[in-house]
Amino acid sequence: MEQELRVFAFNTGWFQCRPGYFIAGETGDYIRGPVPSFLIDHPKGRALFDTGMGVRYRRDRADALPANKFGLEWFEGMEIAARLRAIDVDPASINWIINSHCHIDHCGGNATIPNATVILQSRELAAARNSEEPMLYDSADFDTGHPILAIDGEHDLFGDGSVRIVPTYGHTDGHQSVIVKLPGGDVLLAGDCCYTERNLDLMVLQTAVVDAELGMATMERLANLRRQGTRIIFGHDGRQWSTMRENAPLD
Ligand SMILES: [Zn+2]
Repeated sequence: MEQELRVFAFNTGWFQCRPGYFIAGETGDYIRGPVPSFLIDHPKGRALFDTGMGVRYRRDRADALPANKFGLEWFEGMEIAARLRAIDVDPASINWIINSHCHIDHCGGNATIPNATVILQSRELAAARNSEEPMLYDSADFDTGHPILAIDGEHDLFGDGSVRIVPTYGHTDGHQSVIVKLPGGDVLLAGDCCYTERNLDLMVLQTAVVDAELGMATMERLANLRRQGTRIIFGHDGRQWSTMRENAPLD
């Protein structure tokens, strides 16, 4: 039997912030969302969608981020290369890295995936290279010497419609997402074009958006897809993540 397309979800760290960072005006204690990375295992090759945070953000358990602070953290063993090895996937066997965008919590693991070609929207690459915000974009993460396939708009990764990269601009200039056709239905891996399900329920943009008009157009597109039955996995949604299984293929 031919091996079928599978997607595995991993949390490679935590993103901690006030609720108001997701939905302007909301208050309450700090909340934690995952920093996801996905393995897309296709009969013709393997791709990652995002790779988490760079090793410089690693923390010792004893030095965990206090519960009342904004920030990112991950612990030894959460990094994508270790997560792949834990399910017997050699990081060297990954053919493609699709980065939703080049922020530090989305491409920090690229350097640990040695043989991949990185796929980015060309406008994201330009934004990253021109950025003067080292807390958001760090060339150590995205200028790793990997071959880069710069695309403009949609891209059908394997030419069979099963893994489609789609532009979802707004959070950054060249943000992109992936729609995977699984036997149980389409799954959209959103990345940061929509942080949480609640943003989409309320049709409210998260506060971190460089272009609100493009961001809203992206939200409309997500809402339409959801109405048509596409399952959306959001960028940093702790509530949704608590319902996900890691280390096992998505249904
Ligand atoms: Zn992010």
